[in-house]
Amino acid sequence: SKSFAMDDSLLDRLFGNVTRLEAVSDVSLTVDRGETLGVVGESGSGKSTLANLVTGLHTPTDGTVTIDGSPVGAATDRPADLLADVGVVFQNASSSINPRMTVGDAIAEPLITQGWSADEREERIAELLDLVELSDQHLDRYAHELSGGQAQRVSIARAIATEPRVLVLDEPVSALDVSVKGSILNLLMRIQAELDLTYLFISHDLSAVKHVADRIAVMYLGELMEVGPAADLFERPAHPYTQALLAAIPDVDPSTSIEDTFVLEGDVPSPVDPPSGCVFHTRCPMAEERCRSEVPDRIDVGRGWSRCHFAEEVADAESVAHESH
Ligand code: SF4
Ligand code: MG
Repeated sequence: SKSFAMDDSLLDRLFGNVTRLEAVSDVSLTVDRGETLGVVGESGSGKSTLANLVTGLHTPTDGTVTIDGSPVGAATDRPADLLADVGVVFQNASSSINPRMTVGDAIAEPLITQGWSADEREERIAELLDLVELSDQHLDRYAHELSGGQAQRVSIARAIATEPRVLVLDEPVSALDVSVKGSILNLLMRIQAELDLTYLFISHDLSAVKHVADRIAVMYLGELMEVGPAADLFERPAHPYTQALLAAIPDVDPSTSIEDTFVLEGDVPSPVDPPSGCVFHTRCPMAEERCRSEVPDRIDVGRGWSRCHFAEEVADAESVAHESH
């Protein structure tokens, strides 16, 4: 099948490593070919851990990630294939490019690792520059000679150089000016359509996620709280945490992050000693007694699911904090 799936035990291992000792049951996530899954949550929600797992930087002792039926991530025993299958773009492009390498050398590096010949590389680099809308005049420049947007274009060229099927985008526009942000998001969407890429788009910036994601996965303390199609989730969130995230989208300055406008009190609890029952109960405005003791199941809300005892009531509630979104 043309999808990649993270099975329950994999997620258990992954999130178990950072958040809990007991297993999280009934959690699975499948991303289809050509789809963008937005992963949102506050700092410390486990978003980057998810990225690290898919890119193989974290090693689960159990479970697999498969794309088109073949394992990737730490589950593969062939790191070279992994590099070719999953590309990654980080927030800070200028610092993720080796300062001693020219743009040309930086883009060539993954191709050399994959054994492309000099002729093949030259041809591929020309194609890549075209794809990311840079000219060959940029080839001899160094990272410090590039603007933030240009550096991110180079990072994208590097990430797609070896024709991966999946791109992990970890806060790819969070460090960019608002004006540049839009052009990089548009570039990413065009490249995705042209190359039929699957995106895992990780961000605390819900405005950016809303712009690109087909589906959204909401994370809190290393667990998935809600997963659903982007449009529905923005219109009718079915989890109080999703509601809080949406209410935090700033009306005035779209570059403001969730952390600056967040409506919930308190910090994310320590992942070492997570709350009992529903992990969100210590901050949830709707929490009731049973939330302290009973772990909520994944409740089907028609177009996705929510891990809240009152998912249906939340989804049916007429007033959403920000109707305009
Ligand atoms: Fe809030 Fe309870 Fe739902 Fe958890 S289960 S999100 S604490 S209402
Ligand atoms: Mg992070």
